[in-house]
Amino acid sequence: MRRPLVAGNWKMHGSRDSVGTLLNGLMAQSVPETVDVAVCPTYVHLDQAVAACANSVIAVGAQDCWHAEPGAYTGDVAAVMLEELGCEWVILGHSERRSYHAEADALIAAKLQAAAAAGLKPIVCVGETLDQRESGEAEAVVARQLRGSLEGAVGTAGLVIAYEPVWAIGTGLTASPEQAQQMHAFIRKQLQDLGVDAQQTRILYGGSVKPGNAGELFAQDDIDGALVGGAALKAEDFNAIIAAA
Ligand code: PGA
Repeated sequence: MRRPLVAGNWKMHGSRDSVGTLLNGLMAQSVPETVDVAVCPTYVHLDQAVAACANSVIAVGAQDCWHAEPGAYTGDVAAVMLEELGCEWVILGHSERRSYHAEADALIAAKLQAAAAAGLKPIVCVGETLDQRESGEAEAVVARQLRGSLEGAVGTAGLVIAYEPVWAIGTGLTASPEQAQQMHAFIRKQLQDLGVDAQQTRILYGGSVKPGNAGELFAQDDIDGALVGGAALKAEDFNAIIAAA
């Protein structure tokens, strides 16, 4: 009922050359009709990706946006600029933004409103740290992040949530399919309580997703795709994850 979405988060990786090679590799394989695919390169590689994906079903997204209209914000990029460039998606509240840029839920909520107003489809990330999981706070943390990050924007069209346990990002440790499913079901319930159309909302899993574990994750009822970091940088791996969806 929910179309799977596989999104590649390229983080701060790539050169014109390597991005070109990666995009060529992605174009070489056709995307199954049942799956949505997006790639999210750095800001400086967005135009290259938009051009390369122009005749494909692969959409392009940014990894962040600013919360205000264009103006005096040195170093930032407005949602409307991304939309104008040809972006369809934007990742918001990734744990690396939350930790390296001290992004709090209220700022993410403001960004979400700006993104929605610009016509971008947001992927809002939530997830607990290892300490929080070990001390039994994982659900409370995720519930708080959801409530705060979606404040004033629960009706956002095309909203996607990504559950990315911080301890699984880039570490090679993946949440087990059962752990992930349990949290995804919890998130869906929270979304419903917040007034989001939870049954229609895609919830992606992220954190060391690879060709070898994608299938068992995607087999879970409440896992509707993946936000893929490291494995999205190799066309062969990303294509295999798309095929598993
Ligand atoms: P990873 O990153 O797949 O390299 O763990 C996922 C993410 O941070 O979105």
